[in-house]
Formats: sequence, C-alpha cells, structure tokens
Amino acid sequence: MSHLWSPNIRALTPYIPGEQPRERVVKLNTNENPYPPAPGVGDALRNFAIDHLRLYPDPTSSALRQVLADTYRATPEQVFVGNGSDEVLAFAFQAFFQHGLPLDAPDITYSFYPVYAKLYGVELRTHPLTEQWEVDLEALGADKSRSGIIFANPNAPTGHAHSLEAITALLERVTDRVVLIDEAYVDFGATSAVTLIERFPNLLVTGTFSKSRSLAGLRLGYALGSSELIEGLKRVKDSFNSFPVDSLASAAGIAALEDPQHFQACCDRVITTRERTRQRLEALGFEVLPSKANFLLARHPRHEGAQLFIGLRERGILVRHFNTAELNEFLRISIGTDDEMDSLMEALEVLCT
Ligand code: PMP
Repeated sequence: MSHLWSPNIRALTPYIPGEQPRERVVKLNTNENPYPPAPGVGDALRNFAIDHLRLYPDPTSSALRQVLADTYRATPEQVFVGNGSDEVLAFAFQAFFQHGLPLDAPDITYSFYPVYAKLYGVELRTHPLTEQWEVDLEALGADKSRSGIIFANPNAPTGHAHSLEAITALLERVTDRVVLIDEAYVDFGATSAVTLIERFPNLLVTGTFSKSRSLAGLRLGYALGSSELIEGLKRVKDSFNSFPVDSLASAAGIAALEDPQHFQACCDRVITTRERTRQRLEALGFEVLPSKANFLLARHPRHEGAQLFIGLRERGILVRHFNTAELNEFLRISIGTDDEMDSLMEALEVLCT
C-alpha cells in the first residue's frame, strides 16, 4: 500500500516512545513527573459540568491563554496553546520553517525535530554538541541563509541548559529568522527565555504541562512569542482544526497554573532527588552529565548501556537506552520518587559490581 503514501511519509520511521509497562514496574523511561498534579486539577475535573461536553470548546482558549499570560507576565496575544507541545512544534515547523532553506539544530536533541523536518519537507542542518555535551550556540547561529534555529533548553536527552546570557547573546546575533527554544524541561533548574519575547520578536518559546505540571495524560502545550509569531501559528491551526484544546484539558490546565506552591514543591523535590541520585551514581563509578532537567544521562566505564538497560528491565525497572552511535553507552534515567530511585540504585549496585 505504501506506494499510495506521499514520498515524505514513506521515508518516515514510526517513533517508538518509551514502552508502556503492563505490570507494576518502576517507570523511569519517559520523563513523566512522579508526583500527582495540583489538588485543584482533581476538583476542576470532578466539578466540570458534564453538559458542557455537548458544546465545542472555546475556539480561542481565552481563559487558559489568559492564565498562561498572567503566569508568564505576557499578554494573551503572545500566547498560543495546543494539544501537547508536540503539536505546537508541528505547527511551528509549518508556520516558520518552510522557506525552502535549511533549519539549524543540534545533532543530539529531541528526536521529534528530525521527524517533523521530514514530514514537512524541511532540510535539517545538524551541528555537533561541544566536547562538554553542550548545544553549540555559535555554530547554530553562524549561517544566515537558514529558515531558523531550533533547540531544546535544557537539551534532551543530555540535560545541559544554557544561561539566559548565552541565549540573549544568540538572539542579539540572530534577528532575521525564527529562533525556537523548546523549554519542556526548563522548570527543573534552568532559566526561561520567556522574559526575552518582548525584546526579540523572532523568539518563540514552547512549553508543556506534561513534565513540571504532571499532566502528560492530558496533552497540553503552549508557545509564547511576539503576537506576530503567535498569529503565524494560529494561521496553521485554523486551517487544520479551529479548536485548539478540549474543554476538560483547559479546565485542568488552569487549575494546575493556579497552584504555584504545589508546582514549586514538586519541582524542588525532583531537583533534590536528581542531585542525590547523581551522587549515588557517581559513587558507583558512573559518569553523569550535568542536568537541569528531570532526568540524568549517565554511562559506566565498564558496563555497556544496552546490558544495563536489559538488566534493569529484568528487575522491573524501565529506563531509556538510545541505539545511536553517540549515545549507545548511556542510560537516560527519569527522576522518580525517592523510593523509586532507591530501587534503581539497589539494582545498579548488583549489576555494576
Ligand atoms: N520537547 C521535548 C524536548 C520533549 O522531551 C518532549 C516530550 N518528551 C516534548 C517536547 C513534547 O512534550 P508534550 O507533547 O508532552 O508537551
């Protein structure tokens, strides 16, 4: 049947997300939040008037956009919402990167960028990370004949985050094309570039409710940028589906944003557990890359990543192993609860001695 498919679809290999376990396991493979969403989210869902499901959602998501605008000190015109930041990223590829010019990106980064590039016929020019496994912002911004720049900050799956100063310097150099910064993991210790959208009209920052706000099951993501960029995203969305996110997701998202204490407490717990886990992994001989995200990328000098991955899986612990030349030695470990990390460390102590 595939001869009926468009050529760019034929070239796609389906994305295989971290596996969904059937039995009770310690799930440290897809960077979900180990803690429940804010209590107000449950109240919002329970109190949601079922009769409202008869009606189409607000096509402008105005209530959710207003709360996002308040949260990030922006105006509603600078806010776009979508079904997970994956959808927002897909719209951004269509709105900003289809100029017939290549798009600059790091070579080790979120695996969906190459997928969207193929899907939307965008040539991706990738740049190696620096020797310290950092996104090379100099290289990314060096060539003017490009449609734009995309990178994640913190990067995935390495976890390194650039400072606001470094990002500002990039934006001072690159003013003629869209710079898209994917901040899916920014709340775990990095600094958001959202404060720069007023100054740089070519900056688009994407974010998600899936990580720091514990709502991966709902599919809620957003972008902040100049009203001109947001208008571009709306053009794509309106031609595709004029309803951005469903009413239930909106209600839950608003409740999550309205509880900054819960949000901060969860992020702090994840950060504390991450640093504690780092020390324990290092004590076992692992090299652990510095991380400002809710995961750690680590390799052991004497034990292969693939073997450790299998050994952990046999013990009911799921982590992520990437079958690529650059990352083959590594494991990417999402930060779970302290108990979950204790189980991980106990298993690794057996496997690494
Ligand atoms: N960006 C990065 C860097 C990610 O790792 C992910 C999810 N794994 C996403 C975006 C998409 O997140 P979501 O669609 O759940 O908002």
